[in-house]
Amino acid sequence: MEMAKSLKLLVHHIPKSSEACVAAKFSESLVDILQQENVGSMLSENEVKVSCHLSKNRLVLSAPSESKKLSTESHSCGILARPPFCPIKQLDKNQLLNLSPQTRLRGVNVGVAMLFESADNNILLTKRASNMRTFPNVWVPPGGHIDPGETFEEAAFREAHEEIGISFNPVNTISESRLLGLWESVFPPWLMSGLPKRHHVVIYLHVKGKQTAQEVNSLINLQQNEVACSAWICPCQAKRIVQSDPQFSLDKDCGQCNDTNTCHRTGDSDLCGTVVQTEQTVQTTSIPFKPMLSMIKENMRERVSTGTKFALKLWLETAFKTN
Ligand SMILES: [Zn+2]
Repeated sequence: MEMAKSLKLLVHHIPKSSEACVAAKFSESLVDILQQENVGSMLSENEVKVSCHLSKNRLVLSAPSESKKLSTESHSCGILARPPFCPIKQLDKNQLLNLSPQTRLRGVNVGVAMLFESADNNILLTKRASNMRTFPNVWVPPGGHIDPGETFEEAAFREAHEEIGISFNPVNTISESRLLGLWESVFPPWLMSGLPKRHHVVIYLHVKGKQTAQEVNSLINLQQNEVACSAWICPCQAKRIVQSDPQFSLDKDCGQCNDTNTCHRTGDSDLCGTVVQTEQTVQTTSIPFKPMLSMIKENMRERVSTGTKFALKLWLETAFKTN
């Protein structure tokens, strides 16, 4: 259905004094809104605890305690975070007035991303193609938008299939799936690169597979218009990526590979993954790791997205603690 395809999910929130949903505005930071409404759930200036659920093509965010008042639908709780440099948070009055009316009326859209962990504890990342309108050359997990009626998981599996050609069958190939956290994402990601054009809340899932990285790697078929290449990182490399960004701190005992067989990459050596060569996806062992540590704020620069680092941090802290 054409209509259904163009319908985009919008973020709503529930003010404390009411039970009705309110559409989130493009020009307001949801971290700010939820902190004002739910003072008790503030974790830091840029983080707040939220409950979220999908309802009637809306992603509804509320205080964790508020959700009890609602129906019996399943609600997930997690941390909603934004970067300290969030352009929406930093907009001044003049910049607000300079947003086009179209942009101001966009609302806040919803995305989903899947931190896929192989049976041998490697995470799959994909580099967005250089021709992408938003976040070109940036490393992210597979993901995209949510179609009306889909669950977070169904949307993540559909997008992953479209981008990397892998069919995720929850019964045969997935052992675990859960919400990791929510990220407030804006494009361009820095105000110095121009006024905001896109404003999303991205749902990060952690999905644990039953196959090894090598087994999954041999099945990847990249959609080259969207994905330039894919790579696997082990927990130590995830830790280095998170720690390369001064806004994130990690416990010392997070992210040590305890099995030297699965951690076959040390230092800055290249990564296993896939690339597109003459229209075909081919396996490679030479994806450079170093650009994943880049903090250079340029629009075309290869780097790992800040939301991805946030998700990797949550993964290391909850699923990959060594003791
Ligand atoms: Zn390792």
